[in-house]
Amino acid sequence: VFAAQVHDKDGSLVLGEVIKPVAGPNDVIVRVEAAGLAPGIFHQLRKGAIPILPTILGHEIAGVVESAGELVAPEIIGTRVRVHPNLSCGICEYCTTDREMMCSAESMIGHGVFGPRAIPRYTEYHNGGLAEFVKVPASNLDELPSNVSFELGAKVHDFANALHALRLAIHEPGSTVIVTAATGAMGTATMALAREFGVARIIAVGRDSERLAKVVSIDPDRIRVVHISDDDTADGVVDRIRAIEPSGAHAAIDFLPAGPGASLIFGGIRYGGRIVHMGMNPAPFPVPPARIAYACISFIGTRNCTRRDALDVLSMIARDPDRFSALITHRFPLEDANTARAMLESRTEPIWMSVISPSH
Ligand SMILES: [Zn+2]
Repeated sequence: VFAAQVHDKDGSLVLGEVIKPVAGPNDVIVRVEAAGLAPGIFHQLRKGAIPILPTILGHEIAGVVESAGELVAPEIIGTRVRVHPNLSCGICEYCTTDREMMCSAESMIGHGVFGPRAIPRYTEYHNGGLAEFVKVPASNLDELPSNVSFELGAKVHDFANALHALRLAIHEPGSTVIVTAATGAMGTATMALAREFGVARIIAVGRDSERLAKVVSIDPDRIRVVHISDDDTADGVVDRIRAIEPSGAHAAIDFLPAGPGASLIFGGIRYGGRIVHMGMNPAPFPVPPARIAYACISFIGTRNCTRRDALDVLSMIARDPDRFSALITHRFPLEDANTARAMLESRTEPIWMSVISPSH
């Protein structure tokens, strides 16, 4: 089986043959047709959050069920599926209340470990989608609607994360929402889904004016752009936001993975609004609590989607798949996985979403 493995924290993908996975009683083997790749995974790798090496990365997987373990209904064989990558215990207070990302046994297939009790299950399923075949629990399969391509199916996880952020941010139709890191996968996914929440206006915030101009095409009626640069002051940024939405935005969704961006846009949120942070930004948030209290702003931190988010977003996508497929700007064969990785990490080229297809 042809696969791209990582052997160390450096993140180089080693292409070659690996032993084909064998399904346990409750598993299936999926022939991978498309796998998502995003720069965040290499950041996790360098941080040491990917504890088993070598491993096959790739948590965004779509393909066809090739074979099934003895306790799995054989009718599933041949089905077009996406793989829900989240592994959790299924019985704790979080898993039973649609908040499984907080489970202490949370990990992700083809990704990393997020809880102290995650290792046993992760050990079983750490290999992900950058391979011709992957072993996953049958309970993690979602059937793809016939009009949803494998490529789009592979990206459901990103769309589900965006949906999760929108659910926390948008409380009423007609809202204006600020989206930071608007030119990346999460920003573009959020803007494509915003109309499903009755969002009236999207203020896309980013550092590259050329790339910002391009994202307007995702929803020209709703999207306006605000360019920020390193020497910007909060007052300057807020003036530009309020020139578009004088009363301030109802919410901001912040995907910035670094830097002080969230504090720059903070004053662009109206009283009673919300800021949802999903960017895992390690920089301090330099806004005094008194200001947050005075403006009655809710600061909401979150990470990862739930199974419900994934299933809901899959039906939204299936209603208009072409609109969402348009966000997939880059496609690579598995042989070119290192080229894909270099492009993603250097950010030299504007990439909204990229997928890798293992060749057969
Ligand atoms: Zn749990």
